[in-house]
Amino acid sequence: MEKKQFQAESKRLLEMMINSIYTQREIFLRELLSNASDAIDKIYYKALTDEKLVFDKDSYFVKVVADKENRTLTISDTGIGMTKEDLENNLGIIAKSGSLAFKKENEAKDGHDIIGQFGVGFYSAFMVADVVTVTSKALGEDGAYKWESTGADGYTIVPCEKDSIGTEIVLKIKENSEDESFDEYLEEYRLKAIIKKYSDFIKYPIKMDITGKRLQEGSESEFEDYQEEQIVNSMVPIWKKNKSELTPEDYEKFYAEKRYGFDKPIKHIHISADGAVVYNAILFIPGSIPFDYYTKEFEKGLELYSNGVLIMDKCSDLLPDYFSFVKGMVDSEDLSLNISRELLQHDRQLKLIAKNIKNKIKSQLQSLLKDERETYDQFYKSFGRQLKFGIYSDYGSHKDVLQDLVMFYSSKEKKLVTLDEYVSRMPEDQKYIYYASGETNERIEKLPQTEMVADKGYEILYFTDDIDEFAIKMIMQYKEKEFKSVSSGDLGIESEEDNKAENEENDNKELFEHMQNLLADKVKKVKESKRLRSHPVCFSTDGELTIEMEKILKSMPN
Ligand code: ADP
Ligand code: MG
Repeated sequence: MEKKQFQAESKRLLEMMINSIYTQREIFLRELLSNASDAIDKIYYKALTDEKLVFDKDSYFVKVVADKENRTLTISDTGIGMTKEDLENNLGIIAKSGSLAFKKENEAKDGHDIIGQFGVGFYSAFMVADVVTVTSKALGEDGAYKWESTGADGYTIVPCEKDSIGTEIVLKIKENSEDESFDEYLEEYRLKAIIKKYSDFIKYPIKMDITGKRLQEGSESEFEDYQEEQIVNSMVPIWKKNKSELTPEDYEKFYAEKRYGFDKPIKHIHISADGAVVYNAILFIPGSIPFDYYTKEFEKGLELYSNGVLIMDKCSDLLPDYFSFVKGMVDSEDLSLNISRELLQHDRQLKLIAKNIKNKIKSQLQSLLKDERETYDQFYKSFGRQLKFGIYSDYGSHKDVLQDLVMFYSSKEKKLVTLDEYVSRMPEDQKYIYYASGETNERIEKLPQTEMVADKGYEILYFTDDIDEFAIKMIMQYKEKEFKSVSSGDLGIESEEDNKAENEENDNKELFEHMQNLLADKVKKVKESKRLRSHPVCFSTDGELTIEMEKILKSMPN
């Protein structure tokens, strides 16, 4: 039987692809710059094994030039270039990637920096251009060729003149229509911003002719226009630098440049992992709460890079909710990207990275708690509530991660203490971890219920946050010590006689009965108490819910 190849309506296919795989038009520049970087990389790899070839760093760069008058945007590189066959194969066949082939051939060396793999990125240029003209001269060739296309209608290739090796891509930027404008892709500041956003860490210089105004030499008031060639990208990502070469200021600068926040981060975490999954990450614990942090509008997430190229602005899968305050980025070569590079194909690697990151954040917070208590206090003031929410969420399944990180105000220490600190100070005869809930520390201090516990010399944790008691219910017990509200019926410190006295008939039987009748639908029982010292009366509960919790539950919208 004869086996037939599928035919494709390539015109339709191209149109579909151009208009459906990308959600953002601006990424066309990322794609073309990535290709240029790959082209230079290829010369670099060739030079590693070819003695005749010298890789002189200074002669390799990419240049971006916008011409508003002619509505053209030109991206040229001094990379390896394309032969006539290359143009035909790589730009003429959709989904054919010369870069992927190169990577496979060179796997033994370190071709892993090559970005291209799908063979479609180039066509994204048609999202912003009517005509794309590629002029290229390949390494080792005498002649140059010009490839030109208006997109769906196919392409032409003709011989042409080009002095130097490399590729020049000219985009004829689309005219504006009634509801769409393409002018921004000819604006210097906008192009610069797009390059910074996606391609800041392309290894080779991306140059632009930047115009501006400056003071004339020798003058204090006269300005002059100038134009100078500038390198727009940072090239070496801070996360690929050696940690020992970096100062805290470098990280702070990065934090500010990346606009992670306007504050100064409390701490940075720099991870270079090369175990089961290879990735670099720089994470920050912010110094103050983002204004929208405790609102629905807040979006958690880390920037995700693949080989130094930005894939996602806010990858939320990388952070658990309880660490949603963490800012920063992750770069990995191991990600399985989908064709648009906007999403990930499989999340196995991502899950591994996320787990790894979670553990690193936890241990960073733990060492902060141990070694820099003041800084931890500052952190806790902003984000402690989120940690407590974390304990409560998902039926307490994160309590192991978080219970050592939470703190509560202590009646004894008059400051925030950890559960571990509390338990380690407990006298031998103390059975429970005692807490009292209320609106403020001052109010709790005056609660009659605290008297007996305090009298025993036991420490009491003050719960002033709505979430506190709910979180603690999820922890259930810490180091085998259960939690006990000071307002619960059985405090575990009453002597046998006390209990007996409370339960037995006594002289005031009639008074209590009378009170109970008056308060019939408000209280279950009125009885004598041995726990009071200076106050005449107090409430106590014997169920799971304390009075404070009931108050909160009642105030919640159903
Ligand atoms: P990918 O980069 O995923 O391979 P593209 O559609 O972006 O897919 O590019 C297709 C191919 O065209 C590349 O693999 C590469 O072989 C070739 N190519 C594109 N741009 C250039 C360039 N500036 N210099 C040399 N080759 C290029
Ligand atoms: Mg590409």
